[in-house]
Amino acid sequence: MTKIICTTLLVEKSPQALPLGAACVASAIKHYPGTEKECEVKLISFSREDEEIAALKSDEQKADFIAGRLLKEKPQIICMSVFVWNRTIFELCAERLHKHNIIIIAGGPEITAHPDVFENTFDYTVTGEGETKVPRLIESIIFQKPYTPETFPKSLDLKDIPSPYLDGTIDPTEFCGALWELARGCPFKCSYCYESKGEKTVRLFPEERIDKELELFARKKVPQVFVLDPTYNANKQRALALLKKIARVTPDTFYYFEARAEFIDREMAKAFTKIPCALQIGLQSADENVLKKVNRPFNKKLFIKNIGILNQEGVTFGLDLIYGLPGESFASFREGINFAASLYPNNLEIFCLSVLPGTDLFDRAEELNLTFEKRPPYNIIKTDKFSPEDKIKAQALASACSYFYNDGRAVPWFMTICHVLKTKPAAFFEQFYEFAKKNNIKLDCCEHKLIEENQLKFITFLCRQKHLDRYTSAATDIIRFNGAISRKTATGKSEKIKLTYPPEYIDSQYALDLDFFVKNVKPRPSTVTI
Ligand code: SF4
Repeated sequence: MTKIICTTLLVEKSPQALPLGAACVASAIKHYPGTEKECEVKLISFSREDEEIAALKSDEQKADFIAGRLLKEKPQIICMSVFVWNRTIFELCAERLHKHNIIIIAGGPEITAHPDVFENTFDYTVTGEGETKVPRLIESIIFQKPYTPETFPKSLDLKDIPSPYLDGTIDPTEFCGALWELARGCPFKCSYCYESKGEKTVRLFPEERIDKELELFARKKVPQVFVLDPTYNANKQRALALLKKIARVTPDTFYYFEARAEFIDREMAKAFTKIPCALQIGLQSADENVLKKVNRPFNKKLFIKNIGILNQEGVTFGLDLIYGLPGESFASFREGINFAASLYPNNLEIFCLSVLPGTDLFDRAEELNLTFEKRPPYNIIKTDKFSPEDKIKAQALASACSYFYNDGRAVPWFMTICHVLKTKPAAFFEQFYEFAKKNNIKLDCCEHKLIEENQLKFITFLCRQKHLDRYTSAATDIIRFNGAISRKTATGKSEKIKLTYPPEYIDSQYALDLDFFVKNVKPRPSTVTI
């Protein structure tokens, strides 16, 4: 028996970080007729946030730890899933494992992007989808058969791939959630994405497999599922049919979808309201010329209209923005934040551009005047319109937004407060960042009660600074009331809060316009149990 370990180092400990790629390969090896009787396959995953790993300071120490743990299994072959965030540690790990004559096969996005770079690091590198190539490579190693990857089809037929959930290779209850692969490929070609050089086709997993996996999630009472399909709603009929099934089979599971705003209509929005779910929508920039440079068609009017439908129907959604895109200045990035926040997203995720090897953007970096880190995570350093100083300011904005808006669950009241304070969202976050620095507020803390106290301190300070103290009490009530409701929803724990204004008005449409509220609602202090 040849002992094989499939492994990866996950970026974080969360239900969204599952070793799915490594599990797919492990499952494929188990089911491959040429090796199934010859191999014992085990999936072992690590996370950068595992206590033992996080406590180690250097990458060398982390590699020592991971190699030590893998060696205890006495494997002959180790298959590593290599990503931007684990590449350096796995390179060091391979050095250590080679001393024990272990054969190392590496695959994953980092290997696919530039396999030549790793020729001397790993024994074998496998590019693209590994489910056929890795089992055949292992067969060739065990039986000394020729291995001819060039004869394999460019992309796999998804009906031939076993499900790592259905054969028990990975148990979603261990991770408190599942990554659910519905399709591979994307009809778009955004320049910064690995799909930019893909085939522009979408391959769907067979309906039978999807149904069985859904039933498994129901049996195992999986609390949350992250759907892996970059444009879930591009095929309307398929999306609607699956939403119906989800509502029937797993009514209590929370789903996360990635969606394209241009394909949203009223019927689709209504269907999303039938299950507990949230959509994440890539905006990336609000500047059409910037988006054109990264091959992302953008119709601003349509975007606003369709996001409006989500708001009218009460669908929870978040938006993504990227700083450092070619052609984007710091001023236009700030405008992107103002535009995105004005659409009332539940969360606004702001990322630094990564110029990933294997993408169209990487190939055109020189022509577009992009300077970026040559090692993972390949972050942008500067462009001809975005200086290193701009990057520092953008990072500050991103952390202030993440703390105040996302972790602070500010969507119900944020825009009305900006409105009465006569400030725009980006300027608001910049001021909050400075305030946090002066008051030693740690922006990486996500305890909501503490964030709420800091939100109240900052808003009280701004009202005083602008001689708008007449709004302070109402703003405080609205923030406290919504904060307590969101905590009650999350934890089930009741809270008593003191209010200056009547709760029935705080919990009404009037609270969406703070100026109107203060002019028309009379204070009536009370204590309310949420
Ligand atoms: S960023 Fe999303 S939409 Fe664009 S090519 Fe990649 S997967 Fe497709």
